[in-house]
Amino acid sequence: MTMSVSTQESQTIRLSQVCKSYGDYPVLKDIDAQVARGEVVVICGPSGSGKSTLIRTINRLEEINSGSITLDGQNIHAAMRAKELNAMRSRIGFVFQNFNLFPHLSVAENVSMSPIRVKGVAPEVAHEKALKLLDRVGLADKARAYPGQLSGGQQQRVAIARALAMEPPVMLFDEPTSALDPEMVGEVLAVMKSLASEGMTMLCVTHEMGFARDVADRIWFIDAGQIIETATPKEFFSNPRHPRAQRFLADLR
Ligand code: ADP
Ligand code: MG
Repeated sequence: MTMSVSTQESQTIRLSQVCKSYGDYPVLKDIDAQVARGEVVVICGPSGSGKSTLIRTINRLEEINSGSITLDGQNIHAAMRAKELNAMRSRIGFVFQNFNLFPHLSVAENVSMSPIRVKGVAPEVAHEKALKLLDRVGLADKARAYPGQLSGGQQQRVAIARALAMEPPVMLFDEPTSALDPEMVGEVLAVMKSLASEGMTMLCVTHEMGFARDVADRIWFIDAGQIIETATPKEFFSNPRHPRAQRFLADLR
């Protein structure tokens, strides 16, 4: 991945006036935000504030009620057929809190499955690529293992390799380390950090404020369905402007 200097391309993801409700309950209220190519955004905020819903709307795991979300100008929430939806989703890697690996497939099969099924990549080619990606996340020796034989940290690294297998220009992470034992958090964050340093465009919901401080270009602080503060990590941690952000940070300490 290289950083693009083209200004036309500089807004990879754009959310405009995005609103979403569950029934009568508004979860996302008029969200306006942009992510530039190569930018790493950390989304933080209290539990129930809408972080997961927000990030899930970006690859259309959740529908929106109004507004628009575009990826390089393409309207993600336009009417489209299942096949187009799959193609669009494959451009936006998603890593879940609970890994969501297929338990009956080997690690290598988990990583090679989507390129074979969705992109029509030849199985041998997809397998070779899977081995390279597993090597990259430090799991070359686990290709033939099954998810149930791996630790949580290893499973999450497989999940990252699986998302990368589709060569997405954007990666979304929803609390990727929250389900892990503390000693496994670092190995997953290290993979994410290396992706960031290679110029991947990333949106990460995480409570790992050390990661936010070191890796994020911008922080979005969300509360009650609104992004109420966007700032660089330096600004956010040293001088949060919004009282709710101040309270959130004080509660972490
Ligand atoms: P966060 O990830 O910040 O904890 P969520 O996006 O998961 O927040 O949830 C935001 C709000 O929407 C919460 O009040 C939650 O209870 C509610 N919510 C989330 N998913 C659903 C759903 N499928 N149906 C109804 N309410 C939901
Ligand atoms: Mg959540």
